[in-house]
Amino acid sequence: MLFDVIRHFLSLQRSQWFDKKKLSQIQAKKLASIISHAYNNVAFYRELYSSIGLNNSPRIEELPLITKEIIRAVPTEKLVSRGVITEEHQVSYTSGSSGMPLKIIKNDREAWYSDALRLRSLLAQGAKLTDKICTIRPVPIDKDFQIYRVTEKRRFYGFLKTSRVRPVPLSPDMRKHVELFKMWRPQVLSTFPSYLVRLIDFCRSSETHLTFRMIRTQGELLTEQTRKIIEEFFQTRVFDSFGAAEVGHIAWECPTRVGYHVNSEAVFMEVLRDGTPASPGEEGEIYVTTLYRYTMPFIRYNLGDIGVILNDECPCGRGLPLISRIYGRVVDIIVRRDGVPVFPLTVLYTLQEIEGLHRFRVIQRSDYVIEVYIKPRQGLEDAVATEVEKRCRLLFPNTPFIIKTTDQFQDDKIKFRPIVSYVKVS
Ligand SMILES: [Zn+2]
Repeated sequence: MLFDVIRHFLSLQRSQWFDKKKLSQIQAKKLASIISHAYNNVAFYRELYSSIGLNNSPRIEELPLITKEIIRAVPTEKLVSRGVITEEHQVSYTSGSSGMPLKIIKNDREAWYSDALRLRSLLAQGAKLTDKICTIRPVPIDKDFQIYRVTEKRRFYGFLKTSRVRPVPLSPDMRKHVELFKMWRPQVLSTFPSYLVRLIDFCRSSETHLTFRMIRTQGELLTEQTRKIIEEFFQTRVFDSFGAAEVGHIAWECPTRVGYHVNSEAVFMEVLRDGTPASPGEEGEIYVTTLYRYTMPFIRYNLGDIGVILNDECPCGRGLPLISRIYGRVVDIIVRRDGVPVFPLTVLYTLQEIEGLHRFRVIQRSDYVIEVYIKPRQGLEDAVATEVEKRCRLLFPNTPFIIKTTDQFQDDKIKFRPIVSYVKVS
């Protein structure tokens, strides 16, 4: 098992330096294999492809594009491969950044491959195998920390060196986090931009000094302005990475900062405008096909993010394709009436698990009142509303909130914003 992870990692370490032609050949083989697998073993794809008269081995461009809305309407049993018993697999949820949560099933082997990909990018960005890596990840507000830790320990880093990777629960109390950083002294901090902004505020107001050798961001849009603030404050470099629960680790920022390298051994990425390929340098919607997730394949799946393909050779010498400027996951921090921030990913993770909640959006008005718009599944309206109310009480203590059922979710120009706050924070 551990041997498999190391084997994947060593193979990925080699293949990132292959030239573009060789990488495309490897990708084409994997692509044909996953399409054929989906057609033969996954009810959703079989029905979809048969209904438009496709045969067993179509070309990728012939396949229909899939959106989150289409997938959300399909029961999980039809999205997983024949013979998969979901209870025996790893279950996770999308971060709900589109406001449309989705249950994701994968097996251990797929999770290990994903971890090998993550490790490759961390090392490329400057982490060392001996580094202590502190990962701050969102957990639903009502989840016990212990449950989260056990899940983490099962994963690759946990097997390799339990003490080297420490998951920390996300809590609004920054003092506990700062105490841990000072005591444990991790060299690498992996978290999301809104967390770092909050950490900087706390350090400034409490005159705390923290140092990290490398900071890695994920999960939300990293603007150049935010990057500058973080780098200046911590006097270190910040590198971004890009992934999604449905398809795993997708791309990571090259240390040369030219763009993000796409893990082309793991995903096939298309950038499309109105369904046709965008030219290099032109913005388009990002569609991804998973090349190693056989349990629950995603084929030509719209992530809801905007990107730009670069045709340039990267000065680092890697053959992995480059993309630039990923727009997505634009979220705001909700502020409770007592001034305590509620991290956007905590809100997303807490609401996304509600069975029967089809879509949601949280808008905080400038007077602190929080409006929670929900679209429950038919027949589950009352149960969903009750559960949303229960979780909002946990998320937003001391702050008024109103729950409204709606069918109208307007998309913004660039991207749907699931969490918006109009409260001005000084
Ligand atoms: Zn590069």
